[in-house]
Amino acid sequence: MSENYRAIVIGLGAMGSSTVYQLSKRGVKTLGIDQFSPPHTLGSTHGDTRITRKGIGEGVQYTPLSLRSYEIIEALEAETSSDLLQKTGGLIICSTPDSMARHTEAFFQNTVDAAKKYDIKHDILNAQEIKKRFPQFNVSDQEIGYYEYEAGIMRPERIVERQLQLAKKHGAEIHTDEKLIDFNETKDGITIRTDKNTYRCDSLVLSLGPWLNQMVSKKSFESIFKVYRQVLYWFDIAANFKDFSPPQFPIFIWELKGDKNGMYGFPAVDGPDGGFKLAFEQYDKPCETSSVDREVSRDEIESMFDLYVAPHFPGAKNKCVRSAICLYTVTPDGAFVIDRLPDSNNVLVCSPCSGHGFKHSPAIGECMTDLILTGESKIDLTSFKLDRF
Ligand SMILES: Cc1cc2nc3c(=O)[nH]c(=O)nc-3n(C[C@H](O)[C@H](O)[C@H](O)COP(=O)(O)OP(=O)(O)OC[C@H]3O[C@@H](n4cnc5c(N)ncnc54)[C@H](O)[C@@H]3O)c2cc1C
Repeated sequence: MSENYRAIVIGLGAMGSSTVYQLSKRGVKTLGIDQFSPPHTLGSTHGDTRITRKGIGEGVQYTPLSLRSYEIIEALEAETSSDLLQKTGGLIICSTPDSMARHTEAFFQNTVDAAKKYDIKHDILNAQEIKKRFPQFNVSDQEIGYYEYEAGIMRPERIVERQLQLAKKHGAEIHTDEKLIDFNETKDGITIRTDKNTYRCDSLVLSLGPWLNQMVSKKSFESIFKVYRQVLYWFDIAANFKDFSPPQFPIFIWELKGDKNGMYGFPAVDGPDGGFKLAFEQYDKPCETSSVDREVSRDEIESMFDLYVAPHFPGAKNKCVRSAICLYTVTPDGAFVIDRLPDSNNVLVCSPCSGHGFKHSPAIGECMTDLILTGESKIDLTSFKLDRF
């Protein structure tokens, strides 16, 4: 006889760990399963830091998720005595405020609109003001900035770890190194088959990160998700290390004029030898989880320094102290998918969120729990439905 659960969550990265944590906190009999032992470095939730901000430029639908996530993470910090969120301040630099696109059109203007609507403390800075406040950034005269005081850094690995620890404490079962093979929904419930066992549940959450396509393609929306290899770089600092550390140095998102990728990055948070992390977004060629090149080449490092680091950060040193590969899973409109599978009442899909989901993941876990327990969530998720495609 296979064991019965009220809910099973497959995939325990950002989305799945927050969902099992929230379910278990409400006393729901929950099983969480992952093919590896999260946090790990093979999916989308590693690399030490993620940008978080309150005024969300990707669209009006996101700011409520972000605001709620701040609350959840601050409570989690208190409960676990951990540093999970650091408000370093955040600087968005652009040269075309009306049209700066990032994950969506009008990113800069949307950010300013959200900040005004939700009373989020911010300043609009001209190039002279940016240079005065943040001389580390070599901005050009026509660029302008949005500075948000409470933007900052979230710690992805620690957050996953703490949520899974608390989920266990609240009674959830966590199975690692166990892989979902298939599932089948009938009117009597859902049967899950893994490489180790068979289970039954009333509700199933698939938060499979970049592996999502492989599992659901047979069932439905094969062509929606594309996986892209992203490279994270940590460069050494030639200038005074303190100038590249919080609070002197904020997280940043920089629209680079004439460059479709833009750049984003973080202050140095790992001591004088840890470097500061930056990256640009790459959408040239989709890849597969099984065959993606997980090495960063010397050519990639050299071109990152020449094209992105040196022209914009004169205080950086031409020495890459660390690099990593991480995977984006992107929908055609750059938005999320949080919905039931077509023709299913109880199988929910939570996508890896198109390269901007981590900051929202604590609230997404709470929304998934609401959907399972009550059929609706307090935060409006209608823009993340599958039928928009
Ligand atoms: C380079 C990079 C930078 C980013 N920067 C930011 C940022 O600054 N701010 C921000 O908000 N967001 C950012 N994101 C996005 C954010 O990190 C992701 O939205 C989020 O981490 C996705 O989490 P996930 O749980 O969906 O995926 P994952 O963490 O990949 O988790 C999926 C899990 O499912 C498991 N799994 C898959 N298939 C199976 C199976 N068959 N059986 C069992 N388990 C399975 C996997 O092992 C994995 O642990 C960034 C992403 C990347 C890659």
